[in-house]
Amino acid sequence: MIFCIEDEESIRDLMIYTLNGAGFDAKGFSDGKGFFEALQQERPRLILLDIMLPGEDGISILKRLRSKEETAGIPVMMATAKGTEYDKVMGLDLGADDYLVKPFGMMEMISRIRAVLRRTEAGYKDKGKILQMGALELNPETYAVSADGERVQLTLKEHKLLRILMENPKRVFTRDQLLESVWGIEYAGETRTVDVHVATLRTKLGQCGSYIETVRGVGYRIGGDV
Ligand code: CA
Repeated sequence: MIFCIEDEESIRDLMIYTLNGAGFDAKGFSDGKGFFEALQQERPRLILLDIMLPGEDGISILKRLRSKEETAGIPVMMATAKGTEYDKVMGLDLGADDYLVKPFGMMEMISRIRAVLRRTEAGYKDKGKILQMGALELNPETYAVSADGERVQLTLKEHKLLRILMENPKRVFTRDQLLESVWGIEYAGETRTVDVHVATLRTKLGQCGSYIETVRGVGYRIGGDV
C-alpha cells in the first residue's frame, strides 16, 4: 500500500492510476488530516508527500512522521516544486528518502518508488532469515555470507559488524556505536579497531565492499546507494 498526499485532484488521480497500473495498491489524500486518520488503520510501504498542501504542509507532516517511533521508519518521497521551495527543503535536510521535482513524469515516479523500496526494504526482507542487499546476502542463522554469488569467509566479529549494518540499511553508525555493539563496552575508545575491520570486510566482499560507505566525520553505513 502506498499513501499519496496531493491536494491537486487531477495529479492525485493520475498518481493513483499509475501506481495501480504498476501493481501497487494506493490510496490518495488531499490533506494531512485524512492521511493521519488512515495511518491509524494501516501502515503503508511508502508515502508520497506533496509539500504545498492546504492546512498542515508536507514539511510539518514529515517531521511528525519522523518524530514518532511507529512511523519514523516508513519511507517518504517528497514532491517539491523547482526553485526556492526545493532549495529550502534540501537545506532543511528533513530526512526524506527521496525527492521528486515537479513536474515529474509518472514513469519516473514509479522507478524512483521502486528504487526507494528496494533500498529501504532490502535489509528487512525475511527478517530473521536471510538479509539481502544488492548482490550481498547474509544468513544470521547459518552465518553464511555471499557476495556476487560467491561464498565469503568472515570472522565472527566481521560477521557481526556486517550484520548490524545490513539490519539497518542507510543508518549511519558512529565508530563507538559499532565498537559497543560488536566488541562490547570495554573496548570504548578503540575506534581504530572498527576501521581495520571495515577495511578487511570491504576487501573480502569484493565489489559488494563498496556498499559500506564511510560517512566523513561520523562513521559508517551500508546501502545508501544500493
Ligand atoms: Ca500541492
